[in-house]
Amino acid sequence: MAEVKVKVSCHCQKNQSVIALDLSDLPLSANICHCDTSRHVSGVLGTISIKVPSGPASLDNLTAFETSEFMTRYSCSTCGAQVFAYDTRESTWRVPTGLLDRTEGIFEIQAHMWVGDTRDGGMSDWIPSISGRPLSRWLEAPEIEKSKELFESQTLGGKVPTMKFEDEDKIHAHCRCGGVQFYITLPDKASAEATSPWPDLIVPYHSGSPENPENETWWLAANKTKYLAGTCACDSCRLTSGYEITPWAFIPKTNLVQLNGQPLEFSMGTLKQYESSPGVYREFCSRCGATVFYHNDERPALVDVAVGLLHSTSGVRAENLLEWRTERVSFEEDAINRSLVDGLREGLGSWGVQRQGRTGPRAEPWKSRKL
Ligand SMILES: [Zn+2]
Ligand SMILES: [Zn+2]
Ligand SMILES: [Zn+2]
Repeated sequence: MAEVKVKVSCHCQKNQSVIALDLSDLPLSANICHCDTSRHVSGVLGTISIKVPSGPASLDNLTAFETSEFMTRYSCSTCGAQVFAYDTRESTWRVPTGLLDRTEGIFEIQAHMWVGDTRDGGMSDWIPSISGRPLSRWLEAPEIEKSKELFESQTLGGKVPTMKFEDEDKIHAHCRCGGVQFYITLPDKASAEATSPWPDLIVPYHSGSPENPENETWWLAANKTKYLAGTCACDSCRLTSGYEITPWAFIPKTNLVQLNGQPLEFSMGTLKQYESSPGVYREFCSRCGATVFYHNDERPALVDVAVGLLHSTSGVRAENLLEWRTERVSFEEDAINRSLVDGLREGLGSWGVQRQGRTGPRAEPWKSRKL
């Protein structure tokens, strides 16, 4: 058979495999999964994986976690990336597509599935199409006989929510296994005391200086009643999660508390730290592999929280606590899966205009970048 070889590698490179795919099977079919399990085991708002004919080269640096009686997921014990999953029903391996060294022609995304679990449409509203090809949206999975398809005009989210009730003065966040749990409290006076340079989300790294001498509190939004959130397509997020798009909320450390009311500690529960570059730290759950935090020495009082872990009554976008930055996908220039990230930039921009009255995406900024 004619073969195409793809490499699978996590960020720390302790897990590397080469997979031979039959050319006549390509492109493989893939869906973006929005189910509760995938979200809480990854920290992202939509996971993509493909069925592959072989598994990991070695299990030595992988942590196995059963997410159901038929699915075991393997995450890197060092950097936390979801690396493989094994489905006992079909005796097949699956691999998260964010770890592949090439994607164009290898797989094609057809649909959003388990959108019903999101309660607000989640990321399915941000990627209505890829390369002009509409993606179908399913409350469950398209292969399930009674699953309902959502049509173009149908939306799950109502109007933009705010925190309404006394018992909603904080939001619970947790990984799939429950080893990492914490609360995010509402913005308060102390939230403005953090200091931080501008993020790439607002000032792209190739377009200007990130210095923020006036210390504008860009992480606070909606008259300081919400936090800013955004999506990132950088290599480090992709290779430490296993997925192409990582959603982050920017939260002052003082607004992150443990369940017992104590301040956040990066060693709490099953958290494990990985230094993805000098002075840059990422924590993940050492049991289920969920991506949890990003922070760095430049802005120690501000922590990025993986939005997929949040449990908001308003839905997975947690719009009662977060305002989404829709003009840019952070580090979109890094993307290997160009068509997916282009689809996100366009869809997220249009959603921002409709939902938040924002100005829409900038035109393909990397094209003006000096190389
Ligand atoms: Zn790794
Ligand atoms: Zn966990
Ligand atoms: Zn990133």
